[in-house]
Amino acid sequence: MKQNRRLLCVFLCLCCVVFCAAPAAFAADSGARNVIFMIGDGMGYNHLKLAEEQGYEIFMDNQPDLLGWSRTRSANKEVTDSAAGATALACGVRTNNKMLAVFPEEEKRAALQPRSVTENAILHGMKTGIVTTDYTSGATPSGFSVHVLSRDDAESITAQQLSGNIDLILGKKEDAAEQSAVEEAGFRYLETRADLAALQVGARAFGQFGSSIWKLNLPAEKPSLEEMCATAVSLLTTGNSKGFFLMVEGAHIDKNADDSKNGLKDYPEKRANVAEAVKTFDNAVRAAVDFAKKDGRTLVIITADHETGNLYPDGADSRMTFHSASHTSANVPVFVYGAQDLFENGAEMDNTAIVNLIAEKLGWTERFPIEDPVGFVAAPPAPEAPQTNGEKPVGFLLRLWQWICDFFKWLFG
Ligand SMILES: [Zn+2]
Repeated sequence: MKQNRRLLCVFLCLCCVVFCAAPAAFAADSGARNVIFMIGDGMGYNHLKLAEEQGYEIFMDNQPDLLGWSRTRSANKEVTDSAAGATALACGVRTNNKMLAVFPEEEKRAALQPRSVTENAILHGMKTGIVTTDYTSGATPSGFSVHVLSRDDAESITAQQLSGNIDLILGKKEDAAEQSAVEEAGFRYLETRADLAALQVGARAFGQFGSSIWKLNLPAEKPSLEEMCATAVSLLTTGNSKGFFLMVEGAHIDKNADDSKNGLKDYPEKRANVAEAVKTFDNAVRAAVDFAKKDGRTLVIITADHETGNLYPDGADSRMTFHSASHTSANVPVFVYGAQDLFENGAEMDNTAIVNLIAEKLGWTERFPIEDPVGFVAAPPAPEAPQTNGEKPVGFLLRLWQWICDFFKWLFG
């Protein structure tokens, strides 16, 4: 009798463990639901110092959870361009300069294309967005949205963006994106700040906003990068249980620092314009981090595709000075907000490794590079069958009941 009572006690304790451990296992997910991947095109660490020197207060290096360093190069050059840089960050593949999300090897390229983080997010049912101060067909937004051989092929880039499944693509007006084609493809065509503000949750949109959206003081009808970023975040997160992936690019840090056409390295206007572009991007970073802090399940990664201008302090006054008119192979910073365990603080990594840090944090089992057949278009999975109101799935309860029955059989029989 005493023996049976002892066994019953053991059984009840086991039941408690099972019932208590089950919800804990559901809640023990420390991963992220959303990712905001921010790229300051051409932004080395000293570009932030230049902006501070020019009187701007810079937020992004103010106590991030982590600061690491990304090694940049392309498959065929020690110094990468923005197309190969975007491919490395989006697909985990080093390709040749000028190429966008295609393999560098010709034979492989004929049959296969590397999957981008945006496409993988779509396949997981997440909402997706691309926001830039560049043309929507620019190298960085295109590396995250299409697969083409040349960054100069704006027509193919735009056609692929329109036939893909990204929810929001916002940037500077691309002539190849005609309003009728955009609308036929199922996107709202946005031209002004008011159009953006009026956008409803669930609507797909293609923003074509006119030039100079990188500047700090804009005409009233133009949205800032910060506004585009904040609106995209708000639209992508509302009523969405599967999370979102958003790429945000400040393209004009590079555009103002890259003077390879006339070869001029350093002059006051260049320093002022680069500093302004850094501040514009930094405002968007702050908006993203503010959201992440409130949300609690959003990872924000801020990095660059390459450094531009070989910027470092020089001269009698140790002022930040450009020593190159073009891109360099210097390491660029990787700031992380919303995760303290993504890498060891201060770590140096290849630019191709960053996309797998995102994959891991989102709980994806896939690791990049991932090969798809040429022409593959990522589509969201079919909607799941409805589940019971907040209860655990029926399968779990049946399994639990089976364990209890088995335990009784073992105990008494
Ligand atoms: Zn670039």
